[in-house]
Amino acid sequence: MKPPKFQYLRPASIQEAVAALADAGEDGKILAGGQSLVPMLNFRLLSPSVLIDINRIPGLGEIQEQPDGGLRIGALTRHHALETSKVVQRLYPVLHAAMQQVAHLAIRNRGTIGGSITHADPAAELPMLMKLLDARITVISSKGTRVIDAEDFFLSALTADVAENELVTEINVPPLPQGAGWAFEEVARRAGDFALAAVGVVMHVEQSKVVEARIGLMGVADTPMRISDAETILYNQSCDQATLDEVVDAVLQAIEPSTDLHASAEYRLHLTEVLVRRAVKTAWLRATGEINE
Ligand SMILES: Cc1cc2nc3c(=O)[nH]c(=O)nc-3n(C[C@H](O)[C@H](O)[C@H](O)COP(=O)(O)OP(=O)(O)OC[C@H]3O[C@@H](n4cnc5c(N)ncnc54)[C@H](O)[C@@H]3O)c2cc1C
Repeated sequence: MKPPKFQYLRPASIQEAVAALADAGEDGKILAGGQSLVPMLNFRLLSPSVLIDINRIPGLGEIQEQPDGGLRIGALTRHHALETSKVVQRLYPVLHAAMQQVAHLAIRNRGTIGGSITHADPAAELPMLMKLLDARITVISSKGTRVIDAEDFFLSALTADVAENELVTEINVPPLPQGAGWAFEEVARRAGDFALAAVGVVMHVEQSKVVEARIGLMGVADTPMRISDAETILYNQSCDQATLDEVVDAVLQAIEPSTDLHASAEYRLHLTEVLVRRAVKTAWLRATGEINE
């Protein structure tokens, strides 16, 4: 199928883009990589009368290391740029690892971080990673600027806290503790498919005790999740079998996956159990220097 008719605008600056959004009202849509929007137009799931193409706005696709060791990621940064960035690999190896699981190379060449988090697919990697990394998201409209914690950004399946007159401009990721361990584990039916379930873990260990643990899940609810009860269990513990069992129990208590076309709820619970166990253990081994890659 072909998309319904629309007016095509190509603003040259953020100011022009937000002015175009304000003019378009409910009828405007931002076009970034087009990897989710264009199929939705073709299937006539959406019919905006104005498409505002932000691909030519200078400076919107940059990855910049910040003086505090964090990262500023422009909304138009392509998935492939994140995947291949040496800075991302050095500062956030968990993000580097996860990006290799996002779709196929052709899609990663076009898809953007701003598009992925705004589209808010429950089985997409970047929304979960942004929650795991405590990112903050900047959105701009003709009325001003808002900065939203990733924790509050994902409202429900395919709905993020971005109003129709707002443009996501950048994502800021705070630094991780030096030497933090990490793991990313995912199961998808075929390479490049959306995940059936995935787990990300970041862990900081001092003197053989966990001082901070973060556990993120995706594919098991309408939005990506952080499992704070399980994170708290790890605090001040080592990652022995009993602690690991408690963590897995807490995760399974916190989720209620549903059955859909792709997998049953039972299978998703099983995957989550296996992946959490594996990811927490791997993050611990990295945090304690027992594995180095
Ligand atoms: C076959 C296939 C497989 C895929 N597999 C995966 C996968 O495994 N994992 C995964 O994470 N994703 C996957 N995707 C989705 C892909 O990552 C998309 O690129 C992403 O979801 C949307 O990014 P985009 O830049 O293409 O956004 P677009 O399609 O251009 O836009 C998506 C939505 O976000 C809005 N939007 C975009 N940018 C902004 C902005 N800066 N400010 C405000 N609103 C904005 C648009 O108006 C639209 O509503 C897959 C897609 C396809 C087609």
